[in-house]
Amino acid sequence: MRYAIIRTTVLLCLVLPFTAPAQTAVVNLYTARHYQTDEALYTHFTRTTGIRINRIEAGDEALLERLRTEGRASPADVLLLVDAARLWKAQSEGLFSPVRSELLERRIPASLRAPATPDGTTWFGISTRARVIIVNRSRITAHAISSYADLANPALKGKVCTRSAAHPYMLSLIAAMIEHQGELLATHWARGVVANFARAPRGGDTDQIKAVASGECAVALSNTYYLVRIMRSDKPADREIMAKLQVIWPDQAGHGAHVNVTGGGVLRHAKNPEAALRFLEYLAGDEAQRYLADGNNEWPAVPGVRIENPALAALGTFKADPLPVAALGRSQAAAARLIDRVGWR
Ligand code: FE
Repeated sequence: MRYAIIRTTVLLCLVLPFTAPAQTAVVNLYTARHYQTDEALYTHFTRTTGIRINRIEAGDEALLERLRTEGRASPADVLLLVDAARLWKAQSEGLFSPVRSELLERRIPASLRAPATPDGTTWFGISTRARVIIVNRSRITAHAISSYADLANPALKGKVCTRSAAHPYMLSLIAAMIEHQGELLATHWARGVVANFARAPRGGDTDQIKAVASGECAVALSNTYYLVRIMRSDKPADREIMAKLQVIWPDQAGHGAHVNVTGGGVLRHAKNPEAALRFLEYLAGDEAQRYLADGNNEWPAVPGVRIENPALAALGTFKADPLPVAALGRSQAAAARLIDRVGWR
């Protein structure tokens, strides 16, 4: 017995100097997701894989700027953004690394990820959200509005509110309009929307929802998860807000409601590329897909994942615009020019 202990000690002394100190596997994540409920998503990954996540949260543009500045020295392994156009931009600036993942390619529909490129760099959508029209029931007959185009109808003069069109959620909606009808018609539409403003653009999506409920605006736009967040709240103030609103699925007789993604990719200068890919694959797994839906009220990017979110289900089913989300990047520069031309800032 004693001999065995001595022998073990000697062996350890011999081996230890040549072994790297035990390191915890880690993935350094730069993320533009700003939703508290994501905590469970990350904790569950660490619990099941032992890989720790170091997270830096900032807006899409701030993260892109940081990565450009850091260059090769960047500690970041994975970039998660909340807009397909920004993902497209990150890819076109060479920020992503080539990745082959049979799992991701099988699970994420082609329309929700980067198209194949000669250099193999790519990104993947992991959840979707739709941009819907909300109206104040007492100020508007809901059936008077059925499409984004209707927001430019002169009958809505002084009634329409939006957040700044310089925000990615708006820019990508406008990019989709450009994809569908061309820059000229989209500009004409945008001028009509601006002419209908109840107030100068300000605030985020939740502010638009509140302004419609208060009657300051009769019509506005919001991403679905902000609405569902209020629908799930038991605060009396939130119940009152929802009682005043009607949600309209836009363009159900046309292209379908505009859809955008949260998505991510492995970064070119990742120091932990294997852990990074493992994290992305985890995000496409059934469990993570459910976390995204149940926690932040988004829809899974992976078809057929069963979710249990009654409020999200209460929004109903809808026709989504099948436009591949990468196209939102392609038309982003045109959208930015357009909002300057019509003064939609
Ligand atoms: Fe958001």
